[in-house]
Amino acid sequence: MARHRVKGPLVDVITRVDLDRKKAVAAVVAAGALAGAGFAQAATTITPVDRMVAPVAATQDLAAAMTGERRQPQQQGPQTIHDVNAGSEARKLLQAEQIQARFHVAEALKSAEGAYAKRQEAAKAEAARLAAEAEAKRPKCVRPAQGSFTSGFGARWGTSHNGVDIANAIGTPIVAVMDGTVVEAGPASGFGLWVRVQHADGTITVYGHMNTIDVAQGAQVKAGQQIATIGNRGQSTGPHLHFEVWVAGGQKVNPVGWLAERGVSL
Ligand SMILES: [Zn+2]
Repeated sequence: MARHRVKGPLVDVITRVDLDRKKAVAAVVAAGALAGAGFAQAATTITPVDRMVAPVAATQDLAAAMTGERRQPQQQGPQTIHDVNAGSEARKLLQAEQIQARFHVAEALKSAEGAYAKRQEAAKAEAARLAAEAEAKRPKCVRPAQGSFTSGFGARWGTSHNGVDIANAIGTPIVAVMDGTVVEAGPASGFGLWVRVQHADGTITVYGHMNTIDVAQGAQVKAGQQIATIGNRGQSTGPHLHFEVWVAGGQKVNPVGWLAERGVSL
């Protein structure tokens, strides 16, 4: 019996210390997780105050319970049965606190995820709106190249000049005048090299004498997109772009009037 009396409290103290350590760890983990979740939530939405306060209060309760337990045996001496029950109650309390803490963490995370999804949706909608705005502002028709207007459409040197000439240095960018599809890009008699772009209404714009071609047949191009550079190939007397407009059906029209109808002057 004597051995039992001596051994009883020692075992009991060891058990209690072990339990205290587990509680302390659990309390820190729960408080940390909630503070983290609460912080993320606070950055996005209005956080209910009770949600933030609850874990702190729980941690304080736990600490008070731990302190109380440690004092009790010293005052009351070795009362094994009582201590075992106290430990059991403490475990229940700890389990209850853990369940509550997990619930709060889950709630906070769910709320944060909801807010994040809403922000993502709003950002997508804003990006779509800006893209639509940019698309609406984008010019529908532009000049094919910068440079000097050197020759007009019509009779020239006893023959018919089917386009206009814009002179500039070799390598000057040539751009598609409107959105369209490249239907041909390569060598052509008289043009040296040419690019033909078909537009939505069936009109084809033709670009000739270029030094380099920057698009391939079949490519979709936007108004203002570079398709080639000015050159001096084919029947050409100096670096320039020869530009033609073939309306649907193949008739070649004066590019000056055609561009003017679309708000572009040469
Ligand atoms: Zn020409």
